[in-house]
Amino acid sequence: TKIIDKIKELKGEPFYSFEFFPPKTDNGLRNLLARLGRMSMLNPLFVTVTWGAGGTTSSKTLDLAITCQKDLDLTTCIHLTCTNTSKKLIDNALKAAYDNGIKNILALRGDPPREAQEVAVDQDFKYAIDLVRYIRGQYGDYFCIGVAAYPEGHVEGNDDSEQSIDHDMPYLLEKINAGADFVVTQLFYDADKFCTFYNTLKQRLGRDVVVIPGLMPINTYQLFQRATNLSHASIPPAVGQLFPPDVRHDDDKVKDIGVKLMIDIVDQIYNETHGEVNGYHFYTLNLEKSVAQIVDKSSLLSPRLTVSSRFENAIESSSED
Ligand code: FAD
Repeated sequence: TKIIDKIKELKGEPFYSFEFFPPKTDNGLRNLLARLGRMSMLNPLFVTVTWGAGGTTSSKTLDLAITCQKDLDLTTCIHLTCTNTSKKLIDNALKAAYDNGIKNILALRGDPPREAQEVAVDQDFKYAIDLVRYIRGQYGDYFCIGVAAYPEGHVEGNDDSEQSIDHDMPYLLEKINAGADFVVTQLFYDADKFCTFYNTLKQRLGRDVVVIPGLMPINTYQLFQRATNLSHASIPPAVGQLFPPDVRHDDDKVKDIGVKLMIDIVDQIYNETHGEVNGYHFYTLNLEKSVAQIVDKSSLLSPRLTVSSRFENAIESSSED
């Protein structure tokens, strides 16, 4: 099923989706598969599987995505990057998706590899829009295509001097007009910034578009700091103050505060956009506890849960790694 069709069918009812990454080891994969079984009971509208820049995880990504789609019957979306890679890898991924009933692709540019690699780089692909056009050209409307956006502006490398939504906006509009069906954002912790971004996009586009905010639950203070640094997401003072030095090392406390914060961010976005933004994408980092608690405790999201109490028991007895 196409994500965009499922969203339309909901007619504004709140939903959520989960992102997973393919584990490196067999043991990691076994743990994730067990967890995926439990997390599918949370009734996400769809799940996404990340793609290592340059195609480094291609077969693991495809395997995991096919398992999600076929074995777990989850509507699945494959992330796909197009730079520093060969057209063959892209073609193979699209064909594997097509052959296995996966109808959703998140079309991305990707970051340059950290180490110089010898890959047959295809100059046809410079930006994500080139991949959007390529998929539409090869497969017509078969795929539902998502694209990435940055509520605080995209940062190239580490130079954040040009970080602004105005800089990216024309290119985002181009991606949407080239045939993208929905937008998923980079993680953020400043809901005001997301709302400003959403309103600007809507105004500049001149029509509605599905924008799904990307949210990363806070599992530990260290991971929170790392994620915000890497993604150049700002921490508003009111959020920073939730984590005074004496709680930063208490993972359970940090997690609880993070769960409440996420629920507040979801509520704020829903209210400020008058329910126009009704879907929330969780970067799970392959962990289940925080996400399960967020959807269970959120009055907006919990109606999607059909087995909430049963699930709570299941997660309490499961380990996180
Ligand atoms: P683009 O839309 O191409 O934009 C990249 C930059 O180029 C922006 O600064 C934009 O303003 C600028 N730009 C765009 N078009 C033009 C143009 N025509 N002329 C000049 N400038 C232009 N990476 C992975 O490797 N694997 C993943 O699985 C993955 N998943 C992601 C999921 C989400 C939701 C997000 C937000 C990001 C993800 N990324 C992933 C990271 C992403 O690949 C990087 O952020 C990358 O640097 C930009 O990708 P993009 O698709 O946004 O690029």
